Amino acid sequence: MRYGIISDVHSNLTALEAVIKELEGLGVDRFLCPGDVVGYGPDPSECISRIRSLDAAVVLGNHDAAVCGLLDIDWFNPFAREAVLWTRHRISENDVKWLSMLPLSCDLETWVVVHSSLAQPEMFPYVHSLSTAKACFEQMANWKACFIGHSHISEVYVWQEGARGIDRISLRDGGELQLKEGYRYILNCGSVGQPRDGNPHAACALFDTEEMTFHLLRVPYDIAEVQMRMREADLPDVLIERLEYGL
Ligand code: ZN
Repeated sequence: MRYGIISDVHSNLTALEAVIKELEGLGVDRFLCPGDVVGYGPDPSECISRIRSLDAAVVLGNHDAAVCGLLDIDWFNPFAREAVLWTRHRISENDVKWLSMLPLSCDLETWVVVHSSLAQPEMFPYVHSLSTAKACFEQMANWKACFIGHSHISEVYVWQEGARGIDRISLRDGGELQLKEGYRYILNCGSVGQPRDGNPHAACALFDTEEMTFHLLRVPYDIAEVQMRMREADLPDVLIERLEYGL
């Protein structure tokens, strides 16, 4: 089985189409989406439709939850809040219904998908340090790997079963990781629509369960075109500018 993983699309249809094209070119049996289909970008309804057309396994992100009223936006910074309010006016009732039905996690037997962490996923905590990764590993039960998003940083946490330490591997510029027996993994494929690891190219991943490889890809797309549409939509400048820096 070859899974194509696309997370934190954040209403950026141009980036989404670029990663779908790249992954389909490599051969994908099923798409997984660890959440945040909407928020920040100019194409919320279009991204929902495109993700639905892939018949992907999708979980609920904090922005998805905020847009459909399941999460209080007082938790959000002012720019994220403004984007949530903007998004609410641009999606259909059907879109809202679809978002509100998304599960917090998706159990694929050997693998699991969640937006933030397996430790209190309803609170959307970040896995961005060894201690937050440890809390997630502690909830991994029989799952060998957990696919996450949320931080918009392409990286992997590795724990050898029984060991005390956890390793952290950056995949900021792409690369392939070979998964090994006796180890557990938290695999963050980064963000399609708003990377924050200093690389502005859209991030996605291909996970091959026969080869046991996790291949992180960075895909260029027309950032200026998306920024132009965000300006037309009167979205906050901060959200527009950060796309070209990937921060
Ligand atoms: Zn996000």
